[in-house]
Amino acid sequence: MATVNTVLGPLDTARMGVTLAHEHILSSNAGIPENFPELLEEGYIDHIVEGLQKAKAGGIQTVVDATTLDLGRNVGVLAEASRRSGVNIICCTGWWTEKLRFLSGVDPDRWARAFVREVEKGISGTNIRPGILKGASDMAGVTPEQETVLRAVARAQRQTGLPIMLHSYPAGQVGRRQIAILKEEGVPLHRVKIDHSNDTTDLEYLLWLLGQGVYLGLDRYPGDNVSPLARTRTLKALIDAGFAGRVCISHDWSLARHVAGDSAIGSPEKRQKLNPHGYLYIKNVVFPQLREMGVSDTVIGKLLVEGPRNFFEGKE
Ligand SMILES: [Zn+2]
Repeated sequence: MATVNTVLGPLDTARMGVTLAHEHILSSNAGIPENFPELLEEGYIDHIVEGLQKAKAGGIQTVVDATTLDLGRNVGVLAEASRRSGVNIICCTGWWTEKLRFLSGVDPDRWARAFVREVEKGISGTNIRPGILKGASDMAGVTPEQETVLRAVARAQRQTGLPIMLHSYPAGQVGRRQIAILKEEGVPLHRVKIDHSNDTTDLEYLLWLLGQGVYLGLDRYPGDNVSPLARTRTLKALIDAGFAGRVCISHDWSLARHVAGDSAIGSPEKRQKLNPHGYLYIKNVVFPQLREMGVSDTVIGKLLVEGPRNFFEGKE
């Protein structure tokens, strides 16, 4: 029996069920929820719970929270949200793209020790352990700072066996460099998921990635720049090519009623207009599109289940 760490303890991977593999329950900046909660919308935890309860009523059983420390990770909020909503939440360790400033000279092994300690002992003095490691690179490619963190994530993977999710920038084919670094570090590529891969419609690149053995996170819905329908066409092409069990579909959506005012991720009103479905957008909008394109109900029924489970179980 394989297990995955959730914020409420280990879970049999067979019980993950319908899983969104890249979301953000609460995102802000490092230390904000615990130090400056005034900056968040009043009652933000209630809004989060409400969003998760709706997701649960629509059949979502597990959510992977891709919020690293620099994105404002707070495991206390995640545990409360999971307890109150009944949704399993898997949290992560690692780092997103926030500049390292005074930490820029820290070497990969030292970073890796911090990540491994969270996996082995728990996060922020709790016994909550991450179920996944995260690294990130964007438009600028893998910067020297990000390479340091990526090598640390790789070394933590080799010590803990946890899988890795990577924020990536497919328009620049940044996954090629990320994979090259992970290969140098000896990470088995079936333990790696290249995220935001539906920000491109370049099937040649996506099939190259899959050919390397990684999983793909098709985890932006509705997303920007590429239309939702174009994203679904890409998904359909990958299903037709036999990769239904290698993709993890998700929204990269923040349950953002928590952010006061007009933030980078938009005001609550704007966001409500953009995606009134929240964590049910895929089930309510994408699945009917797939059905119309001729994908069978059997395949659709397994889409949010098999890919994430295979990924967490490390299926080659
Ligand atoms: Zn994200």
